[in-house]
Amino acid sequence: MVIGDPVGHSLSPLMHNAGYEKAGIADEYVYIACHVLPERLSECVQGIRAMNVRGVSCTIPHKVSVMKYLDHIDTVAQKIGAVNTIVNDNGMLTGYNTDWLGVVVPLEKRISLKNKKVALLGAGGAARAIAYGVVQRGAELTIFNRAKDMADVLAAEFGGHAYSFDDLAMIRDVDVIINATPVGMRPLDTETPLPKESIDKHHIVFDIVYEPHETRLLREAREQGAEVIHGIEMLLHQGMAQFKLYTQHDAPEAVMREALMEQIKKKSV
Ligand code: NAP
Repeated sequence: MVIGDPVGHSLSPLMHNAGYEKAGIADEYVYIACHVLPERLSECVQGIRAMNVRGVSCTIPHKVSVMKYLDHIDTVAQKIGAVNTIVNDNGMLTGYNTDWLGVVVPLEKRISLKNKKVALLGAGGAARAIAYGVVQRGAELTIFNRAKDMADVLAAEFGGHAYSFDDLAMIRDVDVIINATPVGMRPLDTETPLPKESIDKHHIVFDIVYEPHETRLLREAREQGAEVIHGIEMLLHQGMAQFKLYTQHDAPEAVMREALMEQIKKKSV
């Protein structure tokens, strides 16, 4: 199940259930969304234990607050400081974080991150997992954030340099640009975090915003001749890593991507 507040918009049930069906394990696993208010989180975790729920995905606002109720936190989730995945092994609840894989895996399908220059726009929750992931893979990280002090915090914690949005001109030198701000997402869908002229054809531009599917940033990046990666890829790959943790089966990538795309297309009409 996925727990969050709100959670009605979550695409995870469709993606995971399509995967269970394809993997032939739909008689063993079913994935649902549960709206859990912050003040009921402790009861929710007791319920997970009582009902022996195998796996739980955590989304906003529970990724940090749930940690204190778990028996064990995996080292990576500890470093990122947030849990998006709980696995229940006979009553022992372990917290993991697969968000970083959602960015690193799609990027590494295209290039090795080792010694590459990565610019990260944003320094919020998603950016933390991304900063961990790209630095862990050997990239040289530069973080740009509206509030520079938040970028400073991330750079100090994970490694890298911190700048405010006033210094975005230097972005031309990087190999990879990742947007981890909500700029481009509805209701900011006519906006872009980066002027079109700053994007060059040697860039790989990854926008983690997945609704709309093609953000203004990605459209303009494509127009500039850059390679683009859509936000759906992050959703998919963090979900595929969860699928493996929950079921120990390899996640069926194509069918899970198709389930997400179908839903995103429906939402955009
Ligand atoms: P968050 O913790 O609230 O962080 C938001 C970040 O964006 C902060 O660094 C904030 O800067 C910056 N920001 C907010 N509004 C801005 C604006 N108008 N102009 C410039 N910067 C702005 O949010 P989050 O959880 O990291 O999520 C960020 C985005 O990623 C959301 O759109 C979310 O939907 C998307 N996301 C996608 C996936 C996926 O699977 N594809 C996963 C997670 C998140 P300040 O510090 O200056 O406020």
